[in-house]
Amino acid sequence: MATVNSNYRKLQAGYLFPEIGRRTRQFLADNPGVQVMRLGIGNTTEPLTPTIIRGLHEGVEVLAQVETYTGYGDEQGETALREALARRYKGYGAELDADEFFVSDGAKPDTANIQSIFGLDNVVAIQDPAYPVYVDSNVIAGRTGQGVNGQYEGLVYMPCTAENGFFPDLPQGKVDLIYLCSPNNPTGAVATHAQLKVFVDYALAHKAIIIYDSAYASFISDPSLPRSIYEIEGAKKCAIEINSFSKEGGFTGVRLGWAVVPKTVECENSEPGEIRRMWFRRQTTMFNGASNIVQKGGLAILSEAGQAECREVIGYYMRNARAIREGLEALGLTCFGGVNAPYIWLQTPGGMASWDFFDKLLREAHVVGTPGSGFGPRGEGYFRLSAFGHHADVLRAIESIQKNLKL
Ligand code: PLP
Repeated sequence: MATVNSNYRKLQAGYLFPEIGRRTRQFLADNPGVQVMRLGIGNTTEPLTPTIIRGLHEGVEVLAQVETYTGYGDEQGETALREALARRYKGYGAELDADEFFVSDGAKPDTANIQSIFGLDNVVAIQDPAYPVYVDSNVIAGRTGQGVNGQYEGLVYMPCTAENGFFPDLPQGKVDLIYLCSPNNPTGAVATHAQLKVFVDYALAHKAIIIYDSAYASFISDPSLPRSIYEIEGAKKCAIEINSFSKEGGFTGVRLGWAVVPKTVECENSEPGEIRRMWFRRQTTMFNGASNIVQKGGLAILSEAGQAECREVIGYYMRNARAIREGLEALGLTCFGGVNAPYIWLQTPGGMASWDFFDKLLREAHVVGTPGSGFGPRGEGYFRLSAFGHHADVLRAIESIQKNLKL
C-alpha cells in the first residue's frame, strides 16, 4: 500500500503569487480598460548581452562538429567554468579548488536540495522574512511540525526588523542549519563583514552549518560589503554558498548556478571532506548537470567583456531601484534596501497590513507589488517592490504612485 509524503500537506498553499494574480485579475475584470503596472516580480526583463549570446552560440556550434561534439559532461560541471568560478572567489580573497564548486541549473534547486545531506534532527534557523524555498524544503523533508499562524513548529525564526537593520541577531539556544541570504530577498538588506562574522563564529563554536544564498551578490556596488561568505575568516569550515547566473547575467530562463561546498566544511558527526562528498553523491545521483551550451554562456558571463556588459545591465536595474526609492521617499514613505540590492522594502503607511496596502496601491495607482507578509510573519506591515523591469515602465509606475496614491 503506497502512501504519500504527508509533509506536503503541511505546506501552506503556494499562496502569495497566485493570490496576487487573483486580485489583479479581479481588479481588471472590475475595471475594464485599465492598464496595471507591475513592480512585483523578481524576474529579469533585459536581453542577454552580445558576449553572452556569442558564448551560447559557440556552445551550439561545437556540438555541430564531430571533432568538438561532447555528450555527458564533467559531473560537477565543466572544468573551465569551475576554474573560472574559483578565480572569481580568489578575487574575494578565498582560496577554493575547482572541485569545491558544483555547477547547477540555479540557486532555487540548490537551496531546496542542500538540506537533504543533513540529518532530520537538525534544528533549522531561518531569517524572517525570507525567500520561501528554505522553509518549504525543510517542511517537505520533515524537519517541522504543523504551520501555525504563518510559522512552522520546530523552525527557529530569526526576526529581521527595522530595529536590527533587517539582519538577524543570533538565535536563542542551539541551532544546527542556518540559512542566510545577502543581499536579501525581500528586504534588500546586505550583511556586513562584522555581521557575518558573528554567525561564522557561532557556527564554528556549535558545529553548525551556514547555508549562504548570495544570488544577488552582483548587485553590491559598495566595495566595503562582502560578496561572499568566504570573505569571513573561518567560513570555509562551516559555510556552503549558493549563487546563480539568473540575476547577474539574465539567466532566469536559461538556468545556471553553482554551489560551493568546501572540503573543509564540517559538522558534528562528519568525517573530513565528507559533506562535500555527500553533495557530490547527491548531485551525481539525482541531477544531470547543466546543459553544455548553457555552461559556455556562463563562461562568457565570467569573461572580462561579459562582466563589463553585465555591470551595465545591473546598473540599468539599479537606476530603476533608485527611481523607485527616491520616488517613494519624496512622498514621505519609508524605504529600505534598493541600494546594493534590486529590492525596495517599503514600510506601509500608517502601519497598514501588507495586503491592504496591496489593494490600495492597485486601486489608486494601478501598480502591483508584493505584500511583505507573504515572506513570513515579520514581513507584515511591509511591501516589496522590484527593480526588475523596463525603465520607462518603472518611471510610469512611480509617476502614477506619486499622482494617485492617497496618503
Ligand atoms: N535565492 C533567492 C534569494 C532568490 O530570490 C531567487 C530567485 O528569485 C533564487 C534564489 C533562485 O534563483 P535561480 O533563478 O538561480 O533558481
